Amino acid sequence: MDAEYDVIVVGAGFGGPVAAKRCADAGLKTLLVERSGVPGEKVVSGLVIPIYGFLFGPEFIRDGNPPIQRPICSVVNRIVKDGKIFFTDHTLWVPKPITVGYSAYCKPFCTWLADRAVESGAELRTSTTAVDVIMDGGTIKGIVTDKGERLGSKVLIDSGGTQNQLSIKAGLREKFTPEAIELYMLWDFEMDKADVDRVFGNSMEFFHAMPEEKIGAPLGYGSTLYFFTYRESIHPGLGQFLVTRGETPNAAKLLREYFDNFTGTIERWKQDIAPKVKLRSVLWDVCPIYAGLLEETRGMPIYGDGMLIIGDAAGFEASAFGDGVPNAWFSADIAARVAIDAVKKGDSSKAALKAYKDDVKADPFITHTITDFRRWDMRRLLLTKDYSQFKRKIRDHWGIGAFRYSNMGGPCLKAMGRMMKDDPTVVASWLKMFTRYWKNWENNSFDRLSTD
Ligand SMILES: Cc1cc2nc3c(=O)[nH]c(=O)nc-3n(C[C@H](O)[C@H](O)[C@H](O)COP(=O)(O)OP(=O)(O)OC[C@H]3O[C@@H](n4cnc5c(N)ncnc54)[C@H](O)[C@@H]3O)c2cc1C
Repeated sequence: MDAEYDVIVVGAGFGGPVAAKRCADAGLKTLLVERSGVPGEKVVSGLVIPIYGFLFGPEFIRDGNPPIQRPICSVVNRIVKDGKIFFTDHTLWVPKPITVGYSAYCKPFCTWLADRAVESGAELRTSTTAVDVIMDGGTIKGIVTDKGERLGSKVLIDSGGTQNQLSIKAGLREKFTPEAIELYMLWDFEMDKADVDRVFGNSMEFFHAMPEEKIGAPLGYGSTLYFFTYRESIHPGLGQFLVTRGETPNAAKLLREYFDNFTGTIERWKQDIAPKVKLRSVLWDVCPIYAGLLEETRGMPIYGDGMLIIGDAAGFEASAFGDGVPNAWFSADIAARVAIDAVKKGDSSKAALKAYKDDVKADPFITHTITDFRRWDMRRLLLTKDYSQFKRKIRDHWGIGAFRYSNMGGPCLKAMGRMMKDDPTVVASWLKMFTRYWKNWENNSFDRLSTD
């Protein structure tokens, strides 16, 4: 080995830095490797992190000043029929400074997370790809980097996201099946802050439609056209699963066509948005959103001898909304706890690391959110042309129904109960977070980044 570490964490996206910080805080010799030059650069341009990630995830994020782009207080759901918005659901909103989530650009946010790991003593190597694992009699002993270095670990935490191959090379997992993967096309538009404030305020917007409108996913499946709103930009996004009902659509062609249909017909776009935006770039990315819904993917291992797999690499993206950051944070926290224990006991065998799987199962959110069939089931409804059911389902899924006990209400109450039992003062930290994050956003003032 060229160097030995207690823990090597692969990937400085959303989950990796959290696991690395925890391990470094516990005094373990920790290395965080990231293939891109700057953490977060290769994740996706931006996203909306739902509030349950902040409330129930790592306390240092809640108590810190990470760079957010816009507090999101409401979700506006518009249903399109015959080329016109025929119904708008505004039921999901909360009064400011409370939010349902925060939009963020990934590069600064993940850099902020990685800075916290480095501050705690983790070593960060950017522009370094883990190209292979080092195996010894079926046990993972470290990684080989693209520079040819052999780096040893007692525990390897794979947080390399969707497209990385480490867990496949370790013989633990297989490629995600195309039915599980949604391919996204994103349009990055510049828009003056005053215009985003006027047109969207602190909301994000979804457009839902039956297949014949040709603005949703080409082959149905409950994918909608979304507008994420940032400080001075908006990103509409449209997704299509690689394979739907055995068909493989030409997503590259169809998603463009569908977006053109949207921009060519919908007055909300033509009047309120188009005159105020300038296209900056068009991007592609993939999410294994339905990994938890398909048995063969859900059943794949998330740990092995000397290795733990977290976040997207483990198939933990939530199936109902495609949000994966909260589960990346929750699983990073669990993995770090298990890794610290294993290193301290000198046993990182598969049997010792099984605690990771048990704790993931016991987590209020991970299994619940990756096995939520609401969006998957929408494809049936999309063929019925039953608009009253459609309205009801939209409200139940993307509207106020999101908080129902059987949806996100139950897991949130469970997590709240757990946390308040351990530390009742956590309620004060939640309230402080809302007001501090809001002030930070108004003043456009966040912690300095190592890249500033
Ligand atoms: C279009 C799109 C929209 C999304 N919208 C949302 C949303 O609104 N809300 C939400 O919560 N989630 C959203 N997600 C999902 C979210 O991005 C992921 O769930 C989340 O980033 C997962 O975190 P992670 O740490 O597991 O992986 P990632 O954040 O993807 O991090 C993986 C990191 O590992 C690095 N890496 C990969 N392989 C290697 C290697 N071999 N060696 C070294 N480094 C490596 C990558 O460069 C990357 O930095 C979206 C995803 C996409 C694609």
